[in-house]
Amino acid sequence: MENSPVSLEMGVIICRHCETEIGTFDSEKVTTYYSDCQEQQCLEGRKAVKSENNHPAVR
Ligand SMILES: [Zn+2]
Repeated sequence: MENSPVSLEMGVIICRHCETEIGTFDSEKVTTYYSDCQEQQCLEGRKAVKSENNHPAVR
């Protein structure tokens, strides 16, 4: 039985703070996006380092 969908997900979204894999998305090539997870443990950890790493993100 080949009932499982073909996975074309080659992109991965990783939390920039704790490097947890948040999710995947379809991509033509291997791509890594950094985003924020919403894990409470991670959120707490960010506050601790924010004071000494307080430059705004430039996109
Ligand atoms: Zn995180």
